[in-house]
Amino acid sequence: MPYRIIVLLTSIILTAIVVAVGGYMYWQVDKRFEIWLAGDTARLHHVYIAQNEVLVQHLQALAYSLAADHEIQRLIDEGGMAWHAAGGHDGMKARQARQALRTLAQRRWEGLSAHYGVETLHFLLPGNVSFLRMHAPEFFGDVLSARRPMLADTARDFNPRSGFVIGTMQAGLRGVVEIMRDQPGGGVRNVGLLEIGFDMKNHLNKLSEQLGIDIALLLDPRRVAAIRPKRRPGLAGPRDKQSAILAATHPEAEEWLSAGLNLQTGTRVPQSRLLSWRGSTFQVVTFALDDYLSQTDPARDPAGTVLIWRDATTQAAQRERAHTAVIHGTLSGYAILQILVFVLLSASRREWERQLKENTKTIEKLLRRNALLLDTAADGICGVDRDGRINFINRAALDIYNCRAEDVTGKDAHALFPFLCPDGDANSGESSPLRQTLDDGEARMIEERIMRGDGSFFPAEITIRPIREHGRKDGAVVVFHDISEQYERQEALLRLATTDPLTGASNRRHFLDQLDAEMARQRRHGGSTALLMADLDYFKRVNDHYGHAAGDAALCHFVRIARQTVRRSDIIGRLGGEEFAILLPGDDIAGASELAERLRHAVEINPVKIGNVRVPVTVSIGISRLQDDDRNAETPLHRADEALYAAKNAGRNRSEIYNPAWREEPRQTAKKGSEA
Ligand code: GH3
Ligand code: MG
Ligand code: MG
Repeated sequence: MPYRIIVLLTSIILTAIVVAVGGYMYWQVDKRFEIWLAGDTARLHHVYIAQNEVLVQHLQALAYSLAADHEIQRLIDEGGMAWHAAGGHDGMKARQARQALRTLAQRRWEGLSAHYGVETLHFLLPGNVSFLRMHAPEFFGDVLSARRPMLADTARDFNPRSGFVIGTMQAGLRGVVEIMRDQPGGGVRNVGLLEIGFDMKNHLNKLSEQLGIDIALLLDPRRVAAIRPKRRPGLAGPRDKQSAILAATHPEAEEWLSAGLNLQTGTRVPQSRLLSWRGSTFQVVTFALDDYLSQTDPARDPAGTVLIWRDATTQAAQRERAHTAVIHGTLSGYAILQILVFVLLSASRREWERQLKENTKTIEKLLRRNALLLDTAADGICGVDRDGRINFINRAALDIYNCRAEDVTGKDAHALFPFLCPDGDANSGESSPLRQTLDDGEARMIEERIMRGDGSFFPAEITIRPIREHGRKDGAVVVFHDISEQYERQEALLRLATTDPLTGASNRRHFLDQLDAEMARQRRHGGSTALLMADLDYFKRVNDHYGHAAGDAALCHFVRIARQTVRRSDIIGRLGGEEFAILLPGDDIAGASELAERLRHAVEINPVKIGNVRVPVTVSIGISRLQDDDRNAETPLHRADEALYAAKNAGRNRSEIYNPAWREEPRQTAKKGSEA
């Protein structure tokens, strides 16, 4: 794989890992913040609910403490009886009872209002007729059963009730308890109801102080709109906005609504969000504000929304700082890792390149060494591929062929090695030993004559061996070397074994072998072959007069003349001393006789030159013919010898034909060997 791709891939993988780790850490920061936010939201919600519960119980306790007052019980009872006696109208007696009740409760009302934040204190007659509102004494006599389910419910079963109520004048937490009066005969009788309500603003302010939070109660505008415009509760904020603010501990809620932020929540489950406002970040928690109606019937929409908020700029800033730290940490980690990877990769690349260089050098050295070895080899070496094309050739082979490596590399070996084709046809590559070795994978060794680049030939021993790599045939190597010397040595040995060293004629043994072969040939194919036996006359004298060397010269002289006289196919042999035999294949007696005479005459007229002396030499020749019944070589030789004997006897320097009649006649005493 290229180095660039490795770097790119590593970089991509690294980036992916760093992005994943950085993203996870970033997500963790958010997650931690969300967990904190959710926990805090739940805590604020619970605290608010619990504080309301405490307030409600407190409210009922205060209501009961008033309802337990006998004077109050009496006055409301009398007021109620007077009201009903007047047919549901105010009258003197009812007015007096109301006045007395107001006077009686005035101090208590003032105390409750001042110390406990009680906002409403309302006495009702049976039938839910408003009898006395301590907070608005001028309003009475209205029947509230229809509009105030909480009052209706308590009037029905005399069980205390509490809850958030949107009244005609005020909205807030209300509690309702029954007012019972003891009967003279025992038992109790309901004489009315007592409703008590708290100032929400006061309550919320206290909560805000205690918990370090801000709270606002937003009423559902639809619920507020249902109340007659003149008698709407004392609501703050613009009426036509999405929410009417019942109470708020800080003007921010009002500002947010004015700015058009939707702060209403549709769910009872508390929601939490972060709100950036004028350079600060607020944690805003919202949940449903249930009134008595939606509290008793969850199917009904809540009355509005409770909004709790507090400054969370520090926490948000902490989160931002954590985010920044994660980003910075990730980026610097990424940079360090990238640099580290780059440095490591570069170092490993340098090391790898160094090793490569070293290995390349070693390989080059080995290749040079191998090439040198191959080039230094005296043998011609040539490599061919599977298709028989030359892929290597050494110096010795190039020198023999007188060519350059680039001229033959890639060429078909047959163009260069015609000798590889046994039939001599350079184009018949299929039957060449090289092709056979490439096909069957068998090694071969042949001896052939190779033509050099200059056209001369030399005998060569050629070895063709298949090349195998991983068990697969992968071409062949041809090695050849000049075996001229070997040939010459063999020929010299052969000459030594077959010729007479002095004259160059065949020696006795070789001559006899050839004679045997000729006899066999004649027996098979017929024809005629003549045999001459020649002996130099008085040769002893030559030796004696002129020395042994002169004798040797005379012997060589004779063989030279004989060679010039006979045909090339005729065979001259030295049988011993100055005695020679000549085999004349294809000659009959007449031809042989004529040739013998020519030879004799040539010897006679060509004296041997020894120094300045001309020494005359003559020769006697016996002539015979090979016969089919000759048992062995000695037989015809013997006949020729007999004819020679006859020639000697007849006076020498002559030729004589063997005569079979001699066998019957006793042999004449020959002069042969005598010097006389
Ligand atoms: P003839 O006419 O009867 O053949 O008489 P001749 O003297 O030729 O025959 P003889 O057998 O008496 O002598 C042969 C001589 O040839 C004897 C020997 O010294 C000589 N001779 C044999 N071999 C060689 C040789 O290799 N070199 C020389 N210089 N002389 C040889
Ligand atoms: Mg002789
Ligand atoms: Mg002799």
